[in-house]
Amino acid sequence: MILILTPNIDPESNEYRQLMEHLSSLPNIQTRLHREVGTQQTLTEVYLVGDTTQLSVEDMQSLPGVERVVRVSEEYRVLGRHRNDNRPTFFIYNGLHFGQDSLHVFAGLCAVDTPEHVERMMKALQENGQVCTRMGAYKPRTNPYSFQGHGKSCLPYVFELAGKYGIKVIAMEVTHETHIDEIREALDLTGNPTGIMLQIGTRNTQNFELLKKVGRQQEFPVLLKRGFGITLEESLNAAEYLASEGNRKVIFGLRGMKTNMGDPHRNFVDFAHVPVVKRLTRMPVCIDPSHSVGTRAADPDGILDIMHVTAQGIVAGANMVLVDFHPDPKKALVDGPQALRLEELPYFLEDVRIAREAYEKRVALTREFRENSSS
Ligand code: PEP
Ligand code: MN
Repeated sequence: MILILTPNIDPESNEYRQLMEHLSSLPNIQTRLHREVGTQQTLTEVYLVGDTTQLSVEDMQSLPGVERVVRVSEEYRVLGRHRNDNRPTFFIYNGLHFGQDSLHVFAGLCAVDTPEHVERMMKALQENGQVCTRMGAYKPRTNPYSFQGHGKSCLPYVFELAGKYGIKVIAMEVTHETHIDEIREALDLTGNPTGIMLQIGTRNTQNFELLKKVGRQQEFPVLLKRGFGITLEESLNAAEYLASEGNRKVIFGLRGMKTNMGDPHRNFVDFAHVPVVKRLTRMPVCIDPSHSVGTRAADPDGILDIMHVTAQGIVAGANMVLVDFHPDPKKALVDGPQALRLEELPYFLEDVRIAREAYEKRVALTREFRENSSS
């Protein structure tokens, strides 16, 4: 059960004290506080955990300081969509709105290799009106002898170039909690020219200690990739770990499942789950066509499979696209064969626009159909 308190409630006030005293007297109930400090107001929510079936919504609603009560199902308490739950399905980060109603493209390097490639990538993004990118500095590799990413040494020039080219958010994977401190230090050092979305990769979806650490900070939003060999429910619970620790700025990423049933694609594309995640939770949903498909194979019309699955995900309502590009894919140190080329960027973005327009038309069509059939 969630008690949503009156906005800007003062923790020193009498009503707040009375409420907390009452809650602490309830048998077998623990409380967990969540405070969201926004630009306009501070919202406080009290999560009641334990034997909440004995509590009535009406009784709780009448307690001092309580504005609204939501009875949550057991699953995904913070991130889930519950009955009578009108909590927002978006967050704002660095001036950008990330929600179940928006769409952002994060085109960029799978792995940072040279300052020259980073600069060429970001320049192309700016020329095409883009303010988000992906830049891998810490790479989890299957083979211990493969390039592991430049790590913290590349962060200052990546962030400076981001500032130069107007990039507002960089999606960047972290594989260890110390990487968050390294990112924060490099941002401070360079004068905070950009924002970072921490990415938890598919190999770490169930690294619970990492999830707790990343969830405990609220500075950076998080892109959590679905685990490649676990159920959707298990991956959604992993996202809930982040939120239960305090960070609700979470985007859920679909990136394909590891099975040879998906051959010849690198992974079995799972973008049919876009609407499922949006229905079960309040998270925006990201698709990663590059790591799903893994090649530049094309159909007889010349349309790349990567672009087909991107369109499929967007037509189904995806809110973010994470996609590998490289100025010189042959020289890429990681995942060159699946990278799109810079000259393909405007073409790719136009294809995205067409798919998004189709999605919006489908939403309008459905609204019209529902209105007519209910009258
Ligand atoms: C990536 O996005 O660079 C990556 C390694 O993805 P995943 O964790 O989905 O394999
Ligand atoms: Mn990759």
